[in-house]
Amino acid sequence: MQSTSAYIDSLRPAGSKRSSKRDLIVNVFLRQEGHLSADTLVDLIRKEDQRISRATIYRTLQWMVDAGIARKVDFGEGRFRFEHSYRHPRHFHLICKECNRSSEFLSSDIEALVEEVAAARNFSARQSVVQIYGTCEQCRTGRAPVVAEGTTEALFARDALRIAIATERSGREFYSRGAKIVKDARARTVFNKLANEEVDHLAKLESRYQQLLAQDPELESRPTFLFFKGAANGLFAAGVEELVKVKDDRQALMLGIKCERNSHRFFKKYGERFEDSEGKQIFLEFADEEREHLELLIREYRDLIKRTTKRRPLTKAAGSARANA
Ligand SMILES: [Zn+2]
Ligand SMILES: [Zn+2]
Repeated sequence: MQSTSAYIDSLRPAGSKRSSKRDLIVNVFLRQEGHLSADTLVDLIRKEDQRISRATIYRTLQWMVDAGIARKVDFGEGRFRFEHSYRHPRHFHLICKECNRSSEFLSSDIEALVEEVAAARNFSARQSVVQIYGTCEQCRTGRAPVVAEGTTEALFARDALRIAIATERSGREFYSRGAKIVKDARARTVFNKLANEEVDHLAKLESRYQQLLAQDPELESRPTFLFFKGAANGLFAAGVEELVKVKDDRQALMLGIKCERNSHRFFKKYGERFEDSEGKQIFLEFADEEREHLELLIREYRDLIKRTTKRRPLTKAAGSARANA
């Protein structure tokens, strides 16, 4: 993962000079969580260096928006707010109209719906903004929240791990059941091998999850950030149900291929969209593992076809078709 200064350097146009004022402003901005107004940023910068003018700060803020370091958000208050995008995935907002606090979430179902609508209307969607206005729990009940939200980066990593763990669990279930169903010895070996790999991956992911909790003991009870409804139960869950219906080993392998392909596509698609962060890495690493499984299953499927086709005696029609070819 990039450090903050490497990140800022990567955004600076080639040949442009370092500006210590600009670096200070960017650094202070990147240290903030949440959604800042330009005035709040001016106050924060002035605490560090009185000599930096408001105009310089405004100009730098605009430069950060253009460079993709900052995102401009409009919560309908008559002024813009700014949030940084460094290790901070895109997200949607819940905005409380009483206290003006906002919280962040992401939903694959909302994104899928936006894609569907855009495709149906032949519209090339560049950016979608979802803002839900209302009253937060604290303003509604007067009770302070039991736990604070924590940083979006930590919530994102936690939820990415939860989804990956759920997928591994349903994958392990799929392959260990599959191993009992298939009749071909080689196919059984492959299913057992994959079930064992899922156990290994699961252990790794769970220890990573424990590491994350060690950094923040309250992390488990903080609000959900990623709402991935379909994925939350594990992308193989549907496959486990379909497994009882398969009629032969080919279908069982094909079902495995289907599950791995969906899983690989899901983690790759979201992993690629996220900003550099631990959650992004988790998704992309997981996508790679699923691709390896996918490739293995495809090889085995082809091999099974070859072996079973050879063994079968040729019918007269098939024999003459071959002779004519
Ligand atoms: Zn509120
Ligand atoms: Zn935000």
